Amino acid sequence: MGEPACRACRGRAGHLVLDLGEQPACDYFPRCDDAGPDPEYPLQMWLCSACGLAQLAADPTVPEEPRGAEPAALVEQAADAVQRVAAAGLLPAGGRVAEYGSPHGGSWLGLLARRGLTPAGDGQPADVVIDCFGLMHAADQSAALAERAARMAAGGVLLLQYHSLDTIIRCGQWNALRHGHYAYYSTTALAAMLAATGFSPRTAWHFELYGGTVLLAAGRDSEASAMPDGLSATPDRAVLSLLAEDARVGVCDPAVLGGLERSAHARASGLREWLIAQRSAGSAVLGYGAASRAVALLRRAGVDRTLLPAVADASPAKQGLRMPGTDVPVVSPAQLAERRPAAVVLFLPDLLTEVRAAFPEVEAAGGRWVDAETLGDGGSGNGGSGNGSFGGLQQHA
Ligand SMILES: [Zn+2]
Repeated sequence: MGEPACRACRGRAGHLVLDLGEQPACDYFPRCDDAGPDPEYPLQMWLCSACGLAQLAADPTVPEEPRGAEPAALVEQAADAVQRVAAAGLLPAGGRVAEYGSPHGGSWLGLLARRGLTPAGDGQPADVVIDCFGLMHAADQSAALAERAARMAAGGVLLLQYHSLDTIIRCGQWNALRHGHYAYYSTTALAAMLAATGFSPRTAWHFELYGGTVLLAAGRDSEASAMPDGLSATPDRAVLSLLAEDARVGVCDPAVLGGLERSAHARASGLREWLIAQRSAGSAVLGYGAASRAVALLRRAGVDRTLLPAVADASPAKQGLRMPGTDVPVVSPAQLAERRPAAVVLFLPDLLTEVRAAFPEVEAAGGRWVDAETLGDGGSGNGGSGNGSFGGLQQHA
């Protein structure tokens, strides 16, 4: 197999920046009575030298994920985002909206209907074109962006929300890389993609979701002299500061992205060593969050049920299944009360507030929540507390 062609600019020069080896499809949860082995596919991130888009290298066909419960964090962020876009004057009542959503849920249409926007008909032009974590699921990035751009009516706005590559690098979120997610956007790379379709970013908002999520508002270059109210003709300070931050972090530098490989190694061995220590100490441990992000981590750390007896998850669709590539079963959150674990490894740190409120029995029984993403951090990365624990036992370093 030769060098891949860029999913956005079709360039062929680039670097393999993260290689997680053969991995099971992170969205294929086998039944517990299916002993495996699960099919595995190469999982690699490639960085285009021409446009700077970080992307999935290989393109195996993988099954669909059982749709999980929509986390409250995502619902709250959507409400916050709609509020902020509306405050900027970009959601005109009576406007038509086209949404390109994520297969994992998180539609904004309900929120927009309450503000008087109506969905545009199939393929019809829309004043507001929204893509909320949808674009990353398209194998052909330039075609997918062109489709969204073409949908935008004259004088409209294109809104793109993405988990930013700058965040992935700063927080060492190597396991954001997964099959089915074809692109990992920096604002810099997305601006280049937009430029190729005759669009430019005009303003942006930043959210804490996933450690750092960006909502970018773009307009058509040919309409720069008549932007809708709330949009400037050129990238505003919010956009410029995102681009400056990208440059500071080095989002287009393969050596910088190579740090994800070191994070992968550190996090996986950190989790493994921690689980072995808990087992040696006779401490009962459970996991929480049968998410795609947990799959590569458990696999890479060589975790089986002797180290982690189960992962609890709120999605009924995942119960009775096991984590891909391991024999660790997914169980109901009721097990958190039943098993009284001394520690619960949380694979989705965004859910911390939500799970602490939903399952007070964990801490009431003397247990603690532990952020899987800070184990093995050694004080680097996102600066989480050294032992990665939350709640009563948290150490403020
Ligand atoms: Zn490219």
